[in-house]
This record gives sequence, structure tokens and C-alpha cells, in this order.
Amino acid sequence: MVLLYQAMLSLPLYPDSPTERTRWILARRGPKTSHDPRQPYGSFIEDEPGPDGTLWRCHTLLLTNRECAFRCLMCDLWQDTLDTTTESGAIAAQVASLPPNPRPTEEPMGCALKLYNAGSFFDPGQVPTADYQAIADKARHFDRVIVESHTAFLRGKHVERVLAFQDAIAPATLEVAIGLETVHEEALEKLNKRMTVADFRHAAAFLALNQIALRVFLLVRPPFLTEEEGVEWGCRSLDVAHECGATFAALLPTRAGNGALEALAEQGHYTPPKLQSLEACLRYGQSLEGTMRVTADLWDIEPFVKSDDDRACVTRIAELNQNQGRP
Ligand code: SF4
Repeated sequence: MVLLYQAMLSLPLYPDSPTERTRWILARRGPKTSHDPRQPYGSFIEDEPGPDGTLWRCHTLLLTNRECAFRCLMCDLWQDTLDTTTESGAIAAQVASLPPNPRPTEEPMGCALKLYNAGSFFDPGQVPTADYQAIADKARHFDRVIVESHTAFLRGKHVERVLAFQDAIAPATLEVAIGLETVHEEALEKLNKRMTVADFRHAAAFLALNQIALRVFLLVRPPFLTEEEGVEWGCRSLDVAHECGATFAALLPTRAGNGALEALAEQGHYTPPKLQSLEACLRYGQSLEGTMRVTADLWDIEPFVKSDDDRACVTRIAELNQNQGRP
């Protein structure tokens, strides 16, 4: 016990200042994976509840581009990014792999395109503006196009770029996914996200004003919270997403794997959430009035499964994801 205590004392503590935090996070990173800058580093097709309540076909491209400008504590997306500014034409080449007619022929279904770029679609260093037209030529054949963005790229001089992309993909609806993570202000600050809940509200208002749909990513039990706090703040975060007009909220169990969270776990500041906590937040979100869809992310869920009860919980979550809590 004494040895363990001494070992914990010798670990460099998580710093208070943002600059020091960034250094601390970067120092715990492993190597990146090398990718072809003209190929998406992943793609898949799945069905997801759509805005009309039916299941929609979703094509996802994981775009290869320059690393995100931020250094969030829990992020592992940098592992599949490039160190240099994305060259003009590279993203256009990546979307060329999309089918010319993505609509399923076997049954009438809505179809959505997720262009996830491990950062902010509206950061021109990640997705060059010169590529928007080529992207739009593919994207407008979908009903909805979902991209992700930090709030920093949804204000000031950046809004023109957002609106230009929205125009370019018409008649498809633009949806922007923001990683709000948590409305626990202190935990959010420590995540090194460089974003406040007020920033989120401001970005949500901008999107609503321009008829752009809002999707929100939320962490269940981020670092620095207990299991009970993880559930409570997961629910409060869903409340804020709902108040701000989100059409979709995706709950993510906070995962290790980026080096920083493993170090925090050694200091007792991070423990993975229980699946039952994820389910509790999911049920809460689906009980809110209105049409906000809420799902819990089951990607790579095996490390969270420790018992038969957990296995049953995963089955229930998968059903809730599909039917949105309706019988
Ligand atoms: S803003 Fe998103 S992509 Fe960028 S570091 Fe944070 S979590 Fe990762």
C-alpha cells in the first residue's frame, strides 16, 4: 500500500494550465498510423434512426486529413491523422469512392452521409475550401450530410464557409455534430477542449438560425467524475442538448486507449463507466419530450463487458438504439 502511494506521488499530476495540460497529454501519446492522404482511413455502412423516426441508411467516410487543432484529454482520433496541412484535391479524391446513387433500392429509406474528419470539417487546414464543390457534387445525392466541428469553427469569419457548404450540398440537409462532451464545467475545462457550455449554446443558436441540424456527442463518465456523477451529468448534458434543439445525441462511454487516460487512471482520476450507467443515460435521453434521437455508442464495447449482466445490458442498449425506446 505504501509502495502504491509512493508510486502515485511520483506520477506527474495532471496540470492546471491549458498549455501545461497540452504538453502533458502530448507526452503520453504513442505513434500514429500511416495513411494514404488521398484515401479515407475507414468507411462503413450502417442503419441509424433518421429524423422521421424510421431507420435510415448511413454511409460513413473517415476522412484522412491534417490533425485537429485541439488536444483534448480523451481524444484518440489523432492516431489516424496527418502532420501536414491537407492538400487541395485530397478530400475530393477521398469522396470519389462514394456510390453515385446511394439510395437503397430494396426498400424506401432515407440516406445520410457522415463525413467524419477527426476534427473540424470547417477548419480549412483539415478540409480545404477548394474541395467543397467536389465534395458537394457527391454529397447532394444524400438526404442529409453530417460533418463534425469544434465550436471555434462555427463563429466569426468561419460562418461564411459553413453557409457556403450548406448552399453547395442543397437540397441535402446539413447537420453539424459538436462534441459537447459534458456540461460539468470543471470537467469540461479539464478535458482541454478549449470550449465552454456558453460557446456550445452560441454555436447551437447559429445553427438553428440557419436551419442547420445539430448533433451532439456526449461522454458518459468523463475523467474526474464518480460513477453516480457520470450518470447525473450525462443526463444534465442531454438536457442542455435538448434545450438547444439537438436533433440527435450520441452517448459515448469514455474509453481509454490514448495514453493520457491510462495515466489518469493510475492517479485514480479515470475509471471506465459501467454499461448500466450508459443505459441509464440512454433511457433518460429517450424519455425527453420531442424528436431528439438518442443512441449509445457500442463500437468496441467488449472491454466494458465483464459479466453476463453486462452482456444483457449491451443487448438492451442495441435494441434501444434501434427503436428509440418505443415498444
Ligand atoms: S476537438 Fe475533437 S478531434 Fe479535436 S482533439 Fe478534441 S475530441 Fe479530438
